[in-house]
Amino acid sequence: MKKPNTPTKPKGLSAKTATLHSRNRHQGHYPMAALIQDHPALQPFLTTTRKGQQSIDFSNPQAVKTLNQALLRHYYQINDWDIPANYLCPPIPGRVDYLHHLADLQPASQNNKKTNVLDIGTGANCIYPLLGHRCYNWQFVATDIDPNALKNAHNILQKNPDIQPAIELRQQTDPNAFFKGIIKKEERFTFTLCNPPFHRSSQEASAGTQRKWKNLGKKHHIDQLNFGGQKNELSYPGGEINFICRMITESKQFSQNCLWFTSLVSKADSLTPIYRTLKQQGVYQHRTIEMAQGNKNSRFIAWTFQTQI
Ligand code: SAH
Repeated sequence: MKKPNTPTKPKGLSAKTATLHSRNRHQGHYPMAALIQDHPALQPFLTTTRKGQQSIDFSNPQAVKTLNQALLRHYYQINDWDIPANYLCPPIPGRVDYLHHLADLQPASQNNKKTNVLDIGTGANCIYPLLGHRCYNWQFVATDIDPNALKNAHNILQKNPDIQPAIELRQQTDPNAFFKGIIKKEERFTFTLCNPPFHRSSQEASAGTQRKWKNLGKKHHIDQLNFGGQKNELSYPGGEINFICRMITESKQFSQNCLWFTSLVSKADSLTPIYRTLKQQGVYQHRTIEMAQGNKNSRFIAWTFQTQI
């Protein structure tokens, strides 16, 4: 069979015109009154913007976490969700966007089948499995190298017993492995997904956070991160390029276990070495899916070794 074209430039919407996925329920402003009705704890964090809109102070970690709890409750009936201090607090609209785009990659022939998904680095927040199960009824295996993150993910699942059977947590013991030691010989996944640590070092992560604070017009101590983040959540030697390129190389050994391997790529500049590695590993097909939320552009890369899609 002829190999399909594998474009080296991002396909689809240009970054400027990209918006949230059409199935994403978080278009426009947050419906604060409805959120407060479902989660009254949000009320004390309510502020009014200069334009008179109800909002919260996004530089206050407690306010951001409480908003997340309200969103998870209101839109996804996830009633009891919490994360320890200084762990990543995931912006829900952006996280769910990745899942909707992933769903578009699902071959029509598989639509009625059980969909197994592997989340690499689920974090303490376990966000992708929770949302993926609620939006698409997917079943998840979720991994992490951080035992404390997994402990918290386990607590979340225990508190949401209707979701618990759909999500299995597995500890990765080798920080340089992704699939090894996790995927069993006969296991099959439609997707793997990953939000990788994207900084090269903890210093770079700190600098990034300082910049974010500056943009929010605040002078706060570095430990008071609004979206949080542990050192290993945010950084990996060689940054996201090294992390994703290693993942691509390892994925070849699991080519028959997973249909689409995917990963977020936070910096557009990281794409060139990633494309090079995809070519070196002889993937059958790859795609770059552009996403945008507000002013922030992002993307994920998807690759497959399978020809029967
Ligand atoms: N998925 C969550 C957390 C992302 S942070 C979210 O989107 O908010 C990245 C996570 O990857 C961290 O929890 C980190 O501990 C984990 N991680 C780093 N290397 C890993 C590896 N080799 N295998 C699995 N998880 C890994």
